[in-house]
Amino acid sequence: MKKNIIDIKGRKIGGNHFLRFAGPCAIESRENIFEIAKIVKKCGGDVLRGGGFKPRTSPYDFQGLGEIGLKYMKEAAEKYDLLVASEIMDKDDIDMMNRYVDIFQVGARNMQNFSLLKALGKVQKPVLLKRGMSATVHEFLMAAEYIIYHGNPNVILCERGIRTFETATRNTLDINAIPLIKLKSTLPIVIDASHGTGVRDLVIPITLAGLMAGADGMMVEIHPEPEKALSDGPQSLYFEDFKILMKDIKKTIEFRNSLNINKK
Ligand code: PEP
Ligand code: MN
Repeated sequence: MKKNIIDIKGRKIGGNHFLRFAGPCAIESRENIFEIAKIVKKCGGDVLRGGGFKPRTSPYDFQGLGEIGLKYMKEAAEKYDLLVASEIMDKDDIDMMNRYVDIFQVGARNMQNFSLLKALGKVQKPVLLKRGMSATVHEFLMAAEYIIYHGNPNVILCERGIRTFETATRNTLDINAIPLIKLKSTLPIVIDASHGTGVRDLVIPITLAGLMAGADGMMVEIHPEPEKALSDGPQSLYFEDFKILMKDIKKTIEFRNSLNINKK
């Protein structure tokens, strides 16, 4: 099956191309996003990801800096030659966000927001579509079809865990979904072990497991001081952990490429 290769300003995902996304859950300040962008670049990342608009469970929690945050992130990404990905929650924000992002992220809570999906079909920038927390693989792939059917073939899927009976972790990352989706679809898929586990110490092993299962990219949340993060601190990696992860990703991809299963 011929795979979709998506080219974003010369960086590619799909086929044999691997894309690395990293950044804070939320953009917290200009200084914070510049500090994070520097480490993402230094460790070999491709895409700076951070939320300007955050879909928080409680309306009393930090909701994101909004447009000014996106402006800071774009400046930081330009300085360090990174791409920008950020979550869009409202279709009325497309034109505004188009000025700042290279990839529109659709969060788990909006996977079946069909008016948003249809509107993103009208743009040509790639859409990173996250799996809904109770969505089946079929529903996930059909949500992607909405964007494609309405005109935008540049969809990147993201497995970010599903809600199960298990409460020891925030979500249960569905490793099965990765090779299954690669059998059923030509779209690239990224693994997000930060939301998939919710537990910092599990993020590195589960990211590497996702790569071995065939993921075309990875996404992680990082923060210079996770205990002070305004959102998702417990699952955010320290910079030191991130450096280790990025080195191990390189080795894992080399190893994966050497396996017979990937040569057949
Ligand atoms: C995020 O990526 O910060 C996020 C809110 O993720 P999800 O939509 O997967 O919960
Ligand atoms: Mn988050």
